[in-house]
Amino acid sequence: MAASIGVLAAEHVAVGLVRDHRLLGDLQVWPESEDRPDMLQSMPAEGIARYISDAIQVARRGEAPEAIGVGFPGIIRDGIVQESPNLPQMKGFDLGASLSSSLAASDVSVPALIFNDADVMAAGIAATRGQLHRLIRVWTLGSGIGFGRYPWSAGAWEGGHSVVTLDPKEHFCGCGGRGHLEGIMGHRAMRLRFLDMEPEEVFAAAATGDQRCSAFVKLWHRALAAGTANSIHMEGPGEFFVTGHNARFVDVGMLDRYLHEMVKMTPLQGSRLEVVATSDEVGVIGAAVNAERFASGTP
Ligand SMILES: [Zn+2]
Repeated sequence: MAASIGVLAAEHVAVGLVRDHRLLGDLQVWPESEDRPDMLQSMPAEGIARYISDAIQVARRGEAPEAIGVGFPGIIRDGIVQESPNLPQMKGFDLGASLSSSLAASDVSVPALIFNDADVMAAGIAATRGQLHRLIRVWTLGSGIGFGRYPWSAGAWEGGHSVVTLDPKEHFCGCGGRGHLEGIMGHRAMRLRFLDMEPEEVFAAAATGDQRCSAFVKLWHRALAAGTANSIHMEGPGEFFVTGHNARFVDVGMLDRYLHEMVKMTPLQGSRLEVVATSDEVGVIGAAVNAERFASGTP
């Protein structure tokens, strides 16, 4: 059986060959040097596409892949990046067509399929935990708040922009919307709220009893519980994973307590929340898994 290629293009581009939900060989990460974390942000859309296509060419080692999946931040529809708040130059860009045509020029016949980056994390968690038969939902806590879902299903799924408060003063979300989950939990939003403190300092101060910081840490957990409760009320209970750089701030006990206050109907009880460390590898595997499922007609 041929291998597939998985790509995770977020802050950097990670690419690998995947077979049977496992990485074959090493993951390749570009740029190799850590001192250019915002490199993609300064590239035009065509440059990003070329960069990803070059990474795929290196990773495939001359083999014809069975499927190619790319995880990319933003709202993705039929290969088109409809919106990508951290990479605004990608808005409206047909990343799928661009990648597929440059790969076709070097005899790669399968299309490059583009998915939301949080969705490939969900697929990667499902695959690496042997849970490909279940509904998996994932919150990614970083500069923004991502919401991923496995199995892949058409839709916007912008759970990070769930409205979790009606307070019009809550306006820190990167999208500009009021009352959004990301406006409370996102790293960027926290820095805007506490102009004098970094998020790490806010959580540290809360732990030592600082009132303003403790109140915020409660709000932060309530917001995630609210986003989760909203998802439960729409799609039912299940497994929720919390990952990303800022998952380190999560107190699962507090989150559970708030969630229980928000979900009361018996058939909707029984969700499980777990904080997991994920890596580029999990996203790369998930991108390949999603692409394989599409290729075999079972998205
Ligand atoms: Zn928003």
